[in-house]
Amino acid sequence: MDEVVQALRDIVKMNTVNGAEKQVTDYIAALLAKHNIKSKLVEYAPGRASLVAEIGDGNGPVVGFDGHADVVALGDASKWKVDALSATIKDNLMIGRGTSDMKSGLMAGVWALIHLKDQNVPLHGTLRLMATVGEEYGQYGAKQLGEAGYANDLQTLIVGEPSGAAKQLLMQQQIQHMLQIDQAGAEKLAAANHTNEQHFIELAHKGSLTYTVHSNGVAAHSSMPEIGKNAITPLMAFYQKEEEYFASVKNYRNPVLGPVTPVVTMVRGGEQINTVPATADLSVKIRTIPELPNADMLIAIKEIIADLNAAGADLSLDVLSDLRPMHTMEDAPLVKIAKAVGEANLDQKLPLIGVPGGTDASSFLAFNPNIDVVVFGPGNITAHQVNEYVDLDMYHRFITIYEQMITELLH
Ligand SMILES: [Zn+2]
Repeated sequence: MDEVVQALRDIVKMNTVNGAEKQVTDYIAALLAKHNIKSKLVEYAPGRASLVAEIGDGNGPVVGFDGHADVVALGDASKWKVDALSATIKDNLMIGRGTSDMKSGLMAGVWALIHLKDQNVPLHGTLRLMATVGEEYGQYGAKQLGEAGYANDLQTLIVGEPSGAAKQLLMQQQIQHMLQIDQAGAEKLAAANHTNEQHFIELAHKGSLTYTVHSNGVAAHSSMPEIGKNAITPLMAFYQKEEEYFASVKNYRNPVLGPVTPVVTMVRGGEQINTVPATADLSVKIRTIPELPNADMLIAIKEIIADLNAAGADLSLDVLSDLRPMHTMEDAPLVKIAKAVGEANLDQKLPLIGVPGGTDASSFLAFNPNIDVVVFGPGNITAHQVNEYVDLDMYHRFITIYEQMITELLH
C-alpha cells in the first residue's frame, strides 16, 4: 500500500463521530512535521482540535483549503458489508464511514501541501490548510477559525467535500433533473468520461436560517380562562403574519439555487387539555439564497414579533443557526482553474452546479463575504450512507488536482 493510501486508512479507522477529531489533527500534524511543515492546533473542546498549516512565501494571495475531520453517525452495523471503521479496500475502493465525507478530501489536501513543499514549488502567496471539527453538526471548527481571523484574508477557498457520483447514476432522472440536462445530455457526459465516477464543480449552495419563536402566557384552569393568558393565540397570529411575509418573498430566486424555501417545521403548545396554555413555540427552517440575505429575513421576523408584542403578546426569538449561502461566479479565476485542471486530470467534462447542502464555506463567508469558493473533492454521493466508499483512483487524481490548482493560483 502506498503511503498516501496508508495515511487515509489510518484516519478513517479513527472514530470521529462528532467528536475526538484531535486524533486526526494530531496525526496530520505529525505527518506534516515529518516533512518540515509547521502546523497549529486550535482547541475547540477536550479531544477536539482544528488544525491550521501554511506554506508559501507570503507575497501574494491567500488560498484556503478546507476539510473537516468529523464524520456522521456510523449507521446500522447490520447493513454495512464491512466494519464501518475498518477502511477495508476492495477493487480499489476504500469502504468506511468518512471515506467520502470527507477524510479522503482532507487527506488529499494534506498530501498536495506535502508534495508542493517537498518539491520546493515556488508559491507566491500563502496556502492555508484548515482541518476543522464539528462540521456535520454545526460547523463549530470553521466558526472558531473564522472568529480567530483565518477567513479575513482568504481570496479563494477550495472545500474538499465529495463532488462525485458513480457514472451510471447519470442515467437516473433525479440526477439529470439536478444537472438540468436531458437523457441525451447525460449520455454525452457519460461518453466523455473515461473513469468510473462523474464529478461536478459545486459553485453554490443555499444557506439556512433556523429559529424558534417562544410565546409566554399564564396558565389557568380552563374553567376560568379570564385569569390566564393563552400562549397559543399570539403564536397563531405570528404564524399568520409570518406566512404573509413568506408569500411576499417567494419570487426571490437564484439562477442556480432556485427560490428561498421557508418551512415551519415544528409547533408545540399547551400543557394539558383542561389548562390555559402557558407556553407555545414554533420552529422554522429557511433555506436561503444570496438575493435575500439572512439578515434581511431576520429583521422582518423581528418586526413581526415587535408589532405583536406591542399589542400585548409576549414573544421571543431564539436563532438556532444562521448560515450564509454561497455563490461563486462562473468566470472567477478559481472556477476556470478548477475546471481546466479537473477536466485534464479526471478525464471527463465537469459541469458547474449548485447543491442543496451547506459546507464550512458558509461559516468562513460570514466573516469574509468576498471569498471565491469551489466545492470539489474525491468521494461521492455515498456520503452519510451505509457502505460509504471512496474510489482510490479518484483520491490519487485529486491530490494532483489540488497541487496543480494551488500552483496556478499562487504562480
Ligand atoms: Zn462533509
